[in-house]
Amino acid sequence: MLTDKMPFRPRDYFRVATVSEAVGLLNKYGRKAAVLAGGTDLLVAKPPHIEYIIDISQLPLNYVKKDRKGIRIGALATLNEIADSPFLEDEPYDVIAKSTLDMGTPLTKNYATIGGNLCNAAPSADMPPSLIALEAEASVIGPKGKRRILVENFFMGPKKSALRRGEILTEIFVPEAPAGTKAVFLKKGRTSEDIAQVNVAVRLTIGDVVCKVARIVLGAVAPIPLRAKLAEAMLEGKKLGEIIKLVDAVAKQAAEETKPITDIRATAEYRKAVAEVLTRRALLTLLERFEGG
Ligand SMILES: Cc1cc2nc3c(=O)[nH]c(=O)nc-3n(C[C@H](O)[C@H](O)[C@H](O)COP(=O)(O)OP(=O)(O)OC[C@H]3O[C@@H](n4cnc5c(N)ncnc54)[C@H](O)[C@@H]3O)c2cc1C
Repeated sequence: MLTDKMPFRPRDYFRVATVSEAVGLLNKYGRKAAVLAGGTDLLVAKPPHIEYIIDISQLPLNYVKKDRKGIRIGALATLNEIADSPFLEDEPYDVIAKSTLDMGTPLTKNYATIGGNLCNAAPSADMPPSLIALEAEASVIGPKGKRRILVENFFMGPKKSALRRGEILTEIFVPEAPAGTKAVFLKKGRTSEDIAQVNVAVRLTIGDVVCKVARIVLGAVAPIPLRAKLAEAMLEGKKLGEIIKLVDAVAKQAAEETKPITDIRATAEYRKAVAEVLTRRALLTLLERFEGG
């Protein structure tokens, strides 16, 4: 029987050179195997049931590229590479780079990857809200070939992703956003380097002074990153001038949609209150930016 007291002492370690080698080993060993990317979650968690480590860190998946359709981020792009990418400097894609800024220390960010942040599926993870707000897709490769999953549908529960046996995440694709799209990411943690007590990404697409698309995505307030869909609906179809009057009500609604828990980082009540404050601040920041052109 496995218990938490069992030591983390894997029986074997494989440093793979190709995606298909990784997929083959993962498929062979199933739940006894874990992918190692940067190791900043895996080597801290040290899951005792893991007997085989599949080190994918040498695969050529640490890129950020731009093409006609959007931006492609390799699963092994580190948080520092994302923060420094020239393709993530301009609105609205800068929200992805900004999501990395308060994630751990500079050393952690040299190792930690975007793929690890998604696959670890922590409810408090900082990358998912911005990616969901920009309607990003995850590419995964497994024994049955390649498939794409909206990042919004990638999370099944705390520490549970949509990956099936033998699958690895290879790329995140961020589609080109419609003109008039801006997004903001805000986070509240106990310290600037800590895991989020609450985080939020808010995205608005404004065309002809009307809100065409609104996304409010909150982290650390539910088992998976949460879209506050009723709050979003209050914004879509409204004119910019009307939105300014709705900010307080929308922020309150977003907080009402959260389902937080109390843990060592914050109480459920505190998380709800912070969700409202951060949503309000993010909306006000966006409105200022739209008014500034
Ligand atoms: C000091 C410190 C501070 C931190 N602060 C933050 C923070 O503020 N915000 C935050 O969100 N996180 C934080 N983290 C957590 C962690 O750094 C991030 O989640 C990081 O992005 C994980 O990436 P990694 O490459 O290190 O993942 P790993 O530890 O290598 O892997 C994490 C999990 O994902 C799986 N995995 C990794 N890559 C793939 C892939 N391509 N395909 C399939 N499965 C894969 C692994 O098997 C493992 O289960 C912190 C960690 C530390 C140690």
